[in-house]
Amino acid sequence: MNNLLLAQLTLELMPMATYTSLGRDENGIWEGLHIDRQIFNAQLLRKTMEQDVPILFNETVEEFIQDAERITGIKTKSGDLYATYIIDASGKKAIAGKKLNLHRKFFSPPLLCWTSISGGIVSYPFDPHVAYFIPGDDEWTWLAPQPPDQCAWTRLSMKGDKSLSPPAILKDYPIIGEVHADNMRWRMFQPVCREGIVLCGDAAGVLDPAAGQGIFNALWSGTMAAISVVSCIQQPEAEAFHLARYNQWYTEHFESKVKQLREYYIAQGLTGLTV
Ligand SMILES: Cc1cc2nc3c(=O)[nH]c(=O)nc-3n(C[C@H](O)[C@H](O)[C@H](O)COP(=O)(O)OP(=O)(O)OC[C@H]3O[C@@H](n4cnc5c(N)ncnc54)[C@H](O)[C@@H]3O)c2cc1C
Repeated sequence: MNNLLLAQLTLELMPMATYTSLGRDENGIWEGLHIDRQIFNAQLLRKTMEQDVPILFNETVEEFIQDAERITGIKTKSGDLYATYIIDASGKKAIAGKKLNLHRKFFSPPLLCWTSISGGIVSYPFDPHVAYFIPGDDEWTWLAPQPPDQCAWTRLSMKGDKSLSPPAILKDYPIIGEVHADNMRWRMFQPVCREGIVLCGDAAGVLDPAAGQGIFNALWSGTMAAISVVSCIQQPEAEAFHLARYNQWYTEHFESKVKQLREYYIAQGLTGLTV
């Protein structure tokens, strides 16, 4: 996905080109912000390098190094790396959760999600200036137009639909690049931290993209993870307290998002998508 719709824009498409906003506050209707992944990644790297942080590219975490109950480092092909604390922000790869065999808690049935971009759109069959959430029977489609002639789309189904086809409304236009598919079953590891390691973002828990919360959650939990690690290092005698506090904060935050998304689905008539 090249562009991410950060704050959700709006999104009900019943008859074409009518929509309702997902939210508003004293500043008006919430607007959408697209982040270009390449630009975002480049800026993030530049900022990190400015802080003289060493960066290793193309490394694979083979396993974690443990000293009794504490995680003390990682094994890679280039050698062992040790750290007082590790923050796992590996996204859906969820390296720590999988390698440390943490318990996975599920909140939905398996949900197949596939996404790509259609191009060559001479004349949009919908307003290209807004994004659309289109609920269907046990499935939904999300359209995020990218004028002048492209539209990013995301579809989700609980029926095991393997066609990975574009939305019907875009079927006459070529798909640009690859179609990425994944299981976006709502899930969270428990616990999301242990002595020596803290999980954040998608590495800790995943909701499907309809939540529109992934980037926000990654930034917020990343910040909270960093604060918790600093607290653990500064007050080693209170480490258990800081870890328990992070775990509780993450769990409550995630479960409240599950509740909101479930209510949103029910409001959209998508009751089959929830358990
Ligand atoms: C189709 C789709 C649409 C979405 N739309 C939205 C949206 O509109 N709004 C929204 O907020 N969220 C959206 N999301 C969710 C959002 O993309 C994620 O929740 C968010 O990117 C998670 O951030 P993260 O930093 O935890 O993980 P990621 O963004 O996945 O970053 C993890 C990074 O870790 C790197 N990595 C993995 N393993 C290693 C390793 N061994 N060494 C070094 N690096 C490694 C990966 O390459 C990657 O760069 C969408 C997701 C999908 C699939």
